[in-house]
Amino acid sequence: MECDVIIIGGGLSGLSCARELHKNGVSCFILEAGDRPGGRVKTDKVDGFLLDRGFQVLQTGYPEAQAALDYNGLDLRRFPAGVAVRWNGRFHIIADPRHHPAHFFSTAFSPIGSFKDRLGMLRLGRSVTRGSFEDIFSQPEERTIDFLHEWGFSEQFIQRFFVPFFAGACLDQSIKASSRVLKYIFRVFSSGDAALPAFGMEEIPKQLASSLPKDTIRLNSKVESVSSGSVTLADGSRLEAKMIVLATSRPVVEKLLKLPHSGSSRGESCLYYSCNWKPPFNNPFLVLNGDTTGPINNLALPSLVSPHYAPEGKTLVTAVVLGEDHIGDSDLESKVRTQLLQWFGEGMHDLRHLHTYQIEYALPNQNPPTADPYTLPDIINGCIRVCGEYQSLPGTQWALLSGRKCAEAIREDLK
Ligand SMILES: Cc1cc2nc3c(=O)[nH]c(=O)nc-3n(C[C@H](O)[C@H](O)[C@H](O)COP(=O)(O)OP(=O)(O)OC[C@H]3O[C@@H](n4cnc5c(N)ncnc54)[C@H](O)[C@@H]3O)c2cc1C
Repeated sequence: MECDVIIIGGGLSGLSCARELHKNGVSCFILEAGDRPGGRVKTDKVDGFLLDRGFQVLQTGYPEAQAALDYNGLDLRRFPAGVAVRWNGRFHIIADPRHHPAHFFSTAFSPIGSFKDRLGMLRLGRSVTRGSFEDIFSQPEERTIDFLHEWGFSEQFIQRFFVPFFAGACLDQSIKASSRVLKYIFRVFSSGDAALPAFGMEEIPKQLASSLPKDTIRLNSKVESVSSGSVTLADGSRLEAKMIVLATSRPVVEKLLKLPHSGSSRGESCLYYSCNWKPPFNNPFLVLNGDTTGPINNLALPSLVSPHYAPEGKTLVTAVVLGEDHIGDSDLESKVRTQLLQWFGEGMHDLRHLHTYQIEYALPNQNPPTADPYTLPDIINGCIRVCGEYQSLPGTQWALLSGRKCAEAIREDLK
């Protein structure tokens, strides 16, 4: 059967592309190598716990997510607006006083930064919320670390707050990622919340997939090669279409199109634990490691945000360790356990390791220069288009946007 478009990859970008095509009467189907759609956004059920494959959140302020997703249907549960920074043997709460007036004094007098740093944060927040989202990408970019120095932030505030915060978002501890990424993250934080669907992050691709006609997604269908107008699957079968969309990660696109390997990526290890403990602060703030010691960069307690993440009476702890160096380290679990016990004491004595995800390709490198997410790459051989977050800035917003824009371009191509 020939259809208009074959989409390779059923992650967020492929699903978004398929949705837009179907909405406009263009026939298409998705070939997905895995046994379910979602790509990097998956949730596993382990002993009654919901484990997202790598700690991820949905920023409710993403404009494309607001347009593409039904937030009520996802039953979003929001993290409190603030962080707990572990520094010098204590947790220091830095919270948005509009939402957490009780933390006004701890925020205003926090030793994590100086008064000048706090003013800098207010200035930065005001500056990134001016103008449109698109404006961020017309401004010059530089490495975030240089940008923060130019803005006058102190070295201690950069190390204690920006490094763990920004590294947690772009998985880059050297914070050399583009200043556009920082501005965009600040912008979405100031226009919404970090949230989890009540039943795990995979509810996001599930919701997108449920809006597609039955049989649009063919699972366990790994594409081995692509040529103009056709694709060949791992089982040797060949399928034809007027247009082919590659909606996979960059390394797979490069392999399928026989392009040279370009650009590096960022990896992480994500360790899940169960315990009976409750945190020493009232709200389940994201925890950042403001000390430069220990493997953990950031930590979250998803079951205190959505109780469905753990069986009744249990707390789910997620610890994130950045970098590829730790991948394959057989001692990592005991190092993380030691740090958790140092931080939280004997309250965590019943800590049980549930699972470790080691993700080599979590996000592409985002060092400058970054591509403008609002322009679409050229068509290849007159019938192949590509979409995916690596086309712009990594993340849900850009995966969804690139899929939709690719579908719009294909509608023009087919005319
Ligand atoms: C650990 C981690 C944390 C993250 N945290 C956040 C966060 O907090 N906020 C945020 O916005 N974003 C976050 N992201 C990024 C976000 O998940 C990705 O940007 C987004 O899911 C990418 O979607 P995609 O469709 O472009 O690619 P993918 O999700 O990689 O989808 C590609 C699909 O193609 C399929 N495929 C590959 N090869 C073939 C083949 N040969 N044939 C057929 N199918 C194939 C794959 O199986 C996959 O389903 C995180 C990602 C990770 C891994």
